[in-house]
This record gives sequence, C-alpha cells and structure tokens, in this order.
Amino acid sequence: MRVHPVVLVGAGPGDPGLLTVRGREALERAEVVVADRLVAQAILAGAPPDAEVIVREARRDLPQESINELLVEKARAGLRVVRLKGGDPFVFGRGGEEAEALTTAGIPFEVVPGVTSGVAAPAYAGIPVTHREDSSAVAFVAGHEDPSKDGSSVDWEALARFPGTLVLYMGVKRLPDVAARLMAAGRDRSEPAVAVERGTTPQQRTVSASLGGLPEAVTEAGIAPPAIVLIGRV
Ligand code: SAH
Repeated sequence: MRVHPVVLVGAGPGDPGLLTVRGREALERAEVVVADRLVAQAILAGAPPDAEVIVREARRDLPQESINELLVEKARAGLRVVRLKGGDPFVFGRGGEEAEALTTAGIPFEVVPGVTSGVAAPAYAGIPVTHREDSSAVAFVAGHEDPSKDGSSVDWEALARFPGTLVLYMGVKRLPDVAARLMAAGRDRSEPAVAVERGTTPQQRTVSASLGGLPEAVTEAGIAPPAIVLIGRV
C-alpha cells in the first residue's frame, strides 16, 4: 500500500485568513485531519466533508506519544494525513517531536510553515518585533519554564542582556517570576512591555505597561492564555 507523506501544516495564530494557500491545499486533500484545540472552526471547515477530523494535542493526561502513534497509524493505513497546528508547527509546537516520530517509523513528512503568533499577535496590535532604530534582534522564548528551577533550559541572565526584543510564548502564568528574574539580572524595569491575548482573533486584547508594571497590569486585566508577551523598545 502506498504511504502518503504526513503534512505538518501551520494553521496560523487564529485569524482564518492567515492560513497559507499551500496549507489550504493540503487540507483540501486530507482524509484525516489531526488538529490542535485552538485551530479555528473556519479553518477546519476547509477539510473535505468526509474527512475524519480529530482534535487532539498533548496535555498532562494525553502524552505526545499517543498523538505521534495516531499519525503513524493513520499514515500506515494509506490515508492522507494533515497535522494542523496553531501558528507555525516548528515554533514551540512540538512539530519537531512529531517529525522525529514519523522519521523513526519510516513515514515521510512535509512541513507547511505557518504564521507564528509571536510575530502576528504583536503585528495585529500594531507592534513590529524589529525596528531599524530600536531593535535588530528578536528572541523567541518559552516563558513557561520555571525561572527558579535548576536546570531550566532558559538562560534568563543571558536574556536580560539580550540586545533586542524578547517574545515570550506561554508566558502569562510565570510572568511575575520571569519579569523579576530579568530585572534582577539587569533588564531595565522601565522598558516597554505588552501582552497580547488571543491575537488576530475577534477577542484580541492588548495590555501595555513597563516591564516592571506588566505583571500587575496583566493580572488586573485578567489576561489569560493564549497570550504573547513582548518586551522591548519597538
Ligand atoms: N506554534 C505556535 C505556538 C505554540 S505554543 C505558534 O507558532 O504560534 C502556545 C503559545 O503560543 C501560547 O501559550 C501563546 O503564548 C502563543 N499563542 C498561540 N496563539 C496565540 C494567539 N492567537 N495570541 C497570542 N498568543 C498565542
């Protein structure tokens, strides 16, 4: 039986208009779609009516391995599988793990990059992540790492010195710790900072403050995930 390549498609950050043409084409040919929870209904509606649509992403009670196995099983059955992931599949999307699992299982895969929320959510709020005069570098950071944990893979001291914009994904819950850690390591507490909740969707909300003031502003406004936190003079 012919095994079709599994297509890892970035669905973009929310606005259905930000799915790429190539991503839509892959979706239109799909027989099985395995989608992240946050992927918009309007995008899923682009799959053929008889395609099997499974909404699944890794959670505490649902390990990534079970998703990897599902992709392998469906591909081995000869079906055209699209794995639809929020934003870009390879930016904090665990797409790398899925690609590795497919490779190990001997199943080919293709990647259709997506518009990542760390760029798109600020853009929809009118904020560039680089600026000729103010920022010539951008760091994408996993903000859910516990800054007080030994062996955390994020080097907050280095990021405090990073000469450019910091874009924190998954950063709302730990924002007080992260901001404190960055400021303790020398990042200027008066540096502008912003949180964009549900960027590019009709529910988008933006809260701006200084780095020192953002944790409180975010709590006051009740900003909840998914949100992007941007720190920088852009
Ligand atoms: N692969 C995705 C990121 C997955 S990690 C991408 O490229 O965008 C999940 C984190 O992405 C969330 O915790 C949040 O920080 C961010 N995120 C995803 N969608 C978002 C949106 N619409 N607005 C703001 N942040 C978003």
